[in-house]
Amino acid sequence: MLFLSLLRATLHNATEQTRTAAAHGLINNNLTVTITTVQHDCIRGTVQRCTGRKYRTSIHSSVDTPDISVTCQCAEAVRHGKVCMHAVALALYAYALTATP
Ligand SMILES: [Zn+2]
Repeated sequence: MLFLSLLRATLHNATEQTRTAAAHGLINNNLTVTITTVQHDCIRGTVQRCTGRKYRTSIHSSVDTPDISVTCQCAEAVRHGKVCMHAVALALYAYALTATP
């Protein structure tokens, strides 16, 4: 799966509310993203809230299926298996870094 497909799938699999929360968090500097790995099939980084709490987050493509898998240390991802706002923030940030004008 290509890098942009990975980002698109992450946004697609998140709820509207999660996408909005992530975008607002980035715009208002309530979320700070640090990218540690960007590959065609994997993005990893940490997302820090303005409270100081940090979450390690990653987005991977699967070799066997068209699905993506998202991991994060927050309750939304761990307990509920959802694409959380940290993963969406990571995807948006990675896209902004790599987008060509
Ligand atoms: Zn999370």
